[in-house]
Amino acid sequence: MSSSRKPTVVVAGLGDTGALIATRLARKCNVVGISTRPALVSGQELGTRLIDLPRWRRTYLIPYRRFRKLDAVDVVHGRISSVDFENSKISVDVSGGSSREIPYDYFVIATGVSNGFWRHDRVEDLTTIDTELSAINAELANASSIAVVGGGATGVSVADNLARGGNASVHLFHSGDEPLPGYHPSVRRWMARQLATDGVTVHPNHRAVVPEGFAGDHLTHDPVEWSTGQDPFTADVTLWALGGVTPHTKFLPASVLDDEGFVLVDKNLRIPALPNVFAVGDVAASDPLRSSARNWGFRIVVSNVKELVRGRPSKLKTYKASEYRWGSILGLQEEGLTVVQPNGKRFRIPRKLAEPLLFSVFVQRVLYGGLRKK
Ligand SMILES: Cc1cc2nc3c(=O)[nH]c(=O)nc-3n(C[C@H](O)[C@H](O)[C@H](O)COP(=O)(O)OP(=O)(O)OC[C@H]3O[C@@H](n4cnc5c(N)ncnc54)[C@H](O)[C@@H]3O)c2cc1C
Repeated sequence: MSSSRKPTVVVAGLGDTGALIATRLARKCNVVGISTRPALVSGQELGTRLIDLPRWRRTYLIPYRRFRKLDAVDVVHGRISSVDFENSKISVDVSGGSSREIPYDYFVIATGVSNGFWRHDRVEDLTTIDTELSAINAELANASSIAVVGGGATGVSVADNLARGGNASVHLFHSGDEPLPGYHPSVRRWMARQLATDGVTVHPNHRAVVPEGFAGDHLTHDPVEWSTGQDPFTADVTLWALGGVTPHTKFLPASVLDDEGFVLVDKNLRIPALPNVFAVGDVAASDPLRSSARNWGFRIVVSNVKELVRGRPSKLKTYKASEYRWGSILGLQEEGLTVVQPNGKRFRIPRKLAEPLLFSVFVQRVLYGGLRKK
């Protein structure tokens, strides 16, 4: 098939999910990827990012020009401002000021969510990304006491990594009896023990009073007050990891969103009534935990787009979510990479295998399809 006859797939957002989809469709289709940044800046492993930025960057901050499989993709640096489903086209505010309309045959929405200071939809260049990352790390490195508010995977990972870093006393506050809601009960018990072993002072049953209008998008220094009645707590720095994510869906009409603003999808990860439009990753209301990013939702979308291109809609694959969250919580540590599973079991990949096999071979070669050296 000549390149001009290939269908056009527009991928909105080239984060953890969108980048994988773009690399895998680039041979069969003309792929246009819209990205707010010129690099993959992963939302994964905030804990290790805050204590060992150079190592985190090797796997989780990668300029798109290094991805061999994105060579054939038209990467547009900017933000989608609107979509016209009737005429199958999107409008993009391109970095630098112009705007561009792009028609599509298939549209994949993978624009993710905003979460604290580490995930957002601002249009940025590489220098700004670097400056922001270094400033946050420097502020934490200079603190002698740190409060982390929030007992989800991010709060736990950050608190544990900072405590292992050893520069500050670290206090983790969460509102339940045990951290990690949404994880299997035995994972939650294991993590409570792990935090204590690693030197985190855990304060259960503390619900913070969130300052009016504050979205947790920067570090704070004022005392934290509790609606659960405890005395205010003062640390040099407070990091908020409240899990209150905001979906990046302002460019979409309300008719395709649920009450919280996430994109409604069917079992094939398509928007109902729009057979050529998919949504996947944290932005998609695919299951109660919205877990299609780590549950390989990108494979479902890639396969289903290819089937539609071949004219075989009866062959579409169905997305299946796991009941409990799974994956790595603490990131790579001296003892290796511990991965918790949906059934509550966990396994550990020793460090000397994790670095060469998981990060260099699996992530960089298999998942990303080969990276150029810097
Ligand atoms: C294979 C895999 C394994 C994983 N394993 C783990 C694990 O072990 N532990 C763990 O904690 N998590 C894991 N995760 C999941 C991870 O925590 C998040 O769920 C994931 O980062 C979400 O990806 P996303 O593509 O939905 O969003 P993001 O990575 O946030 O990407 C969205 C992108 O879209 C951009 N964007 C937003 N609005 C617009 C717009 N209007 N126009 C253009 N661009 C826009 C954003 O700026 C951002 O760059 C894994 C994910 C994957 C894919």
